[in-house]
This record gives sequence, C-alpha cells and structure tokens, in this order.
Amino acid sequence: MDGQELEAFAYHTPPEIRGRKGVQHPVVIVGAGPVGLAAAIDLALHGVRCIVLDDNDRVSAGSRAICWAKRTLEIFDRLGVGERMVAKGVTWQVGRVYHRDEELYSFDLLPERGHKMPAFINLQQYYVEHYLVARAAQFPDLIEIRWKNELVGLRQAERSVLLEVDTPDGRYELEALWVLAADGARSAARRALGLEFAGHVFEEKFLIADVRMRADYPSDRRFWFQPTFDPAESVLIHRQPDEIFRIDFQLGWDADTEAERQPARVMERVRHVVGPNVKFELEWCSIYTFQCARLERFVHGRVLFVGDSAHVVSPFGARGGNGGIQDVDNLCWKLALVLQSRAPEALLESYDCERVRACEENIRHSSRTTRFMTPKTPMERQLRDAVLALAREFPFARTLVNSGRLSRPCSLAGLSSIVADEAAVAGSMAPGTACADAPLVRTDGGPTWLLESIGGDFTVLTFAASAAELGRLEGEQRAAGLDLPLRVLVPAATRPGA
Ligand SMILES: Cc1cc2nc3c(=O)[nH]c(=O)nc-3n(C[C@H](O)[C@H](O)[C@H](O)COP(=O)(O)OP(=O)(O)OC[C@H]3O[C@@H](n4cnc5c(N)ncnc54)[C@H](O)[C@@H]3O)c2cc1C
Repeated sequence: MDGQELEAFAYHTPPEIRGRKGVQHPVVIVGAGPVGLAAAIDLALHGVRCIVLDDNDRVSAGSRAICWAKRTLEIFDRLGVGERMVAKGVTWQVGRVYHRDEELYSFDLLPERGHKMPAFINLQQYYVEHYLVARAAQFPDLIEIRWKNELVGLRQAERSVLLEVDTPDGRYELEALWVLAADGARSAARRALGLEFAGHVFEEKFLIADVRMRADYPSDRRFWFQPTFDPAESVLIHRQPDEIFRIDFQLGWDADTEAERQPARVMERVRHVVGPNVKFELEWCSIYTFQCARLERFVHGRVLFVGDSAHVVSPFGARGGNGGIQDVDNLCWKLALVLQSRAPEALLESYDCERVRACEENIRHSSRTTRFMTPKTPMERQLRDAVLALAREFPFARTLVNSGRLSRPCSLAGLSSIVADEAAVAGSMAPGTACADAPLVRTDGGPTWLLESIGGDFTVLTFAASAAELGRLEGEQRAAGLDLPLRVLVPAATRPGA
C-alpha cells in the first residue's frame, strides 16, 4: 500500500457540537466503506446532499475484497472512478481449476469482445475506498464525510430518523429524512433497530497470506483442490497490483489458529507454493471464518440497509462487495426521485424486493460453493471427491466442480413490479437484466461505448436505419410527451461507408 492510502483523514468538530440546531438533513449515510462512499457519490450525481458518518479515519486496512466484477466496474465508471480502478487493477477473465497437480478445466468470464469494462479486476479494497474518497471530495457542496463520528443510537420519528453520534468532542444528535445503513457486517444501525441477521456460520477456517514478490505468474485466477504442494484442502491464488499475490489456504475447522498464523509457519507454506527460488515478503496474514446471512427486509421505515449491513456471504464468488455496490446502483436513483417528490415512497419497496432476491441468489451460490469446498458428512465428501476424480477425465463432471461461481448481476425479470413483463418485449436483452455494453462511434466520429452514452438515467434507446432519421424520432418522442434523453443507434452495416 502506498503511504497515501494509509493517511488519516482529518476530523473536524461537527457543527452540532458547536451549537447548530434544527437542521433536517435529506440523507445521512452511516459508514464510509466502499458501499457508503459509492452511495454518497451516486446521490450527489442525482443532486442529493448527504452526510457520511464513519467511526474510523482511514480506509480499511488489511486484505479484504480484491475481486471487482464487470457490472460493479460499470457502476464505478458511471460514478466516475471506473477508469482509475481499471488502470490500477490487475485485469483478468480466465479462471483455472486444478485437482492435485492437474488442471481440470478453465473458464472464460468474458468470451465476447467489445465491452469497455473487463470481466474482473483485482484491486485491494483500500485502493477502491481511497479512490471513492477522492471522488467524493469533488462534490464539496453535496457530500460531507465526518470521520471519527460513530453512530451509537438511532430511532425512527414519524417523518424522519434521529441519530446519536459519538465523536472525540462528545455526543450530538442529527436528524435525517432518510438513513442509509452502510455500516458493515456488525452494523450498529441494525442493532439499534433490534433487527436479526439470519443465516449460518460455515465451519471452516481460511488463512490469507498476501505476499510481495517478483514472479512471472499469470493474472488468471488459480484454484487447487487438494494441492500436492500443501496440506490445505484448497488453495486459491490471485494476482493484485504492486506485485502482491493473495494466497488463500483452506485450513479446516479444527486448525489451530494460533499455530497457523505464526509467520514462520505461513512463510513455510508460501515457500511451498512459490518454489524455492522466488524471493518474497509477507505483507499481510490473517485467519478468517465467514457466514452467509441477511436481513429479512432491507427497508425498515426510513432506514435503508445496503451492503454488508444487509447481507454477508463467503468471499468465494466475490459477491460481498460487488453485491453491495449493486445495492447502491439499485437504490440511489429511486431515493433521489422520492426526495425530489418525483416518485412516491412506495418506489423504495422495489429496492427491497429486487435486492432481497439478488441477495438470495448470491447466498445460494456462495453457500453451494462452500458446501462443495467443505463437505461436512462422509457422504458429501465421497460425492465431492468422486466429482473431482471424474472431472479429470469426463467433461460433464467439470460443470459440477464448484470453486466459486463468480459475481454476476441478478436478473430482475419477473421479480419486480417496476420491470416490464418479459414476454411483452422482443429481443435478447430481457427487461430486468443489466444492459450489455457495445462499442459505438459518435456522430462526430469519436469512439464511445453504449453504457457510457446512456449514463445512469432513464433513456430512450432506439434504432434507426440512418442518422437522417434522428430529427423524425425526436419529433415522435416529443409528440408522445416523453421528456427523456433519446439515443439513436444506427447499426454499422447501414451506415454509409460501413
Ligand atoms: C477476506 C475477505 C475477502 C473478500 N473478498 C471479496 C472480494 O474479492 N470481492 C468482493 O466483492 N467482496 C469481498 N469481500 C467482502 C467485502 O470486503 C465486503 O462485502 C465489503 O467491505 C462491504 O462493504 P460495506 O461498505 O458494506 O461495509 P464495510 O467495508 O465493512 O464498511 C463499513 C464502514 O462502516 C464503518 N462503521 C462501522 N460501524 C460504524 C458506526 N457505528 N458508526 C459509523 N461508522 C461505522 C466502518 O468503519 C467502515 O468504514 C471479502 C471480505 C473478506 C473478509
């Protein structure tokens, strides 16, 4: 990590402690993790002011999320940080799965060309947060981040929410029309409302070792079941920026945590992975367990739960942070419309229903992966080992091998009251699915991308045989009373000279 990312952000005495009273804020976001920060930027892009509270004064330390999926990168791009992240991150799209010392199969997460954003990048969470903080600073009139401001109490009033906040200068109260609870897996907002986080803890321990080394390894995701070079049940390797490699070792539930985290022990394991001739330094090491759990509902009166405060999954599949950013993308335009009195509050129910369904999908995939990786009964183990053995020879068995089904956007088709009936619309991009990207040429001849040109608002997208038809289509749209931006696509084959 560069020194810059480690810097503490300045704490300022909040105006309420200096005596300001009676201000009702449109939105208070609790938590300046990736999800809270992304929400602040998204709301600002819709012209909505917010205060972000964080109990800390730094970006998150250590090794947490590294894999950011295409859909999330497209959202980050809309928020104005996607290109910076892709430039720094390690791009990848191929995953390789091994059993012992043999490659079983590989998968390509983006076989189609012509997308602005790659299938995945690996980028440490502290960089993601740092870039989001820098972007948020570009909206000084709309985003106020209050570091070292800890939410300690929260109660709903009739038309607002009252928050109690603790700071180095003492406590104060804030009033907000809406609260976004983005305060992570141990959410104080959840506790304050007495909400249950239902799910289950997986009985498995994983060791993370981040090592810095000069190695000519590919950027592909590489996953071993029962590797020959380590006693771990599985090993996963990801390349990150700054010549750092993240190695996850599956230790088993009975592993002696204290013994396994000793640097000498970790170095020995890493040495077996990288071979005797590669020089490396240990950057970070930790042991974690995880759970798959969620709130039953994400909307509780005027408190809206996003990210890890609403749901947690295992890291295999990279669905935690990615799912949280997709919550933000779903929620913020709706909240902005409600605040601007352009939509009823009932619109927020669609956030609840859509993201709860997406979360169920993420938990389902994540739990299945975990069960495959950590068979718990002799029967499950026999079945798992038989699949691995068969996969060496028979392609059909490879589809049953599960080392993580990686994050994909959930389809809302048929799930939500605000998505058109799929059957009513012709074409392959069904309503409720994320819009696919495509390379375009602007009328001035410059290159652009479909997602870049439609931005984040409702847009009428239509096709025409030639650019000359643009005027007619605009006229038709005006006549229909649709006050929305119009984008006309002229397929390349019909353009003169194409
Ligand atoms: C080992 C590991 C690997 C992972 N790998 C991936 C991956 O590759 N891809 C992926 O998508 N996800 C991954 N995840 C999950 C990812 O890290 C989380 O989903 C993500 O951090 C959630 O973001 P968040 O903003 O919701 O919560 P957090 O990142 O937890 O942020 C919450 C913020 O709220 C603040 N806060 C907490 N309590 C209070 C309070 N009372 N008052 C004010 N502020 C408060 C905290 O200081 C923090 O800044 C991984 C997680 C782990 C542990």
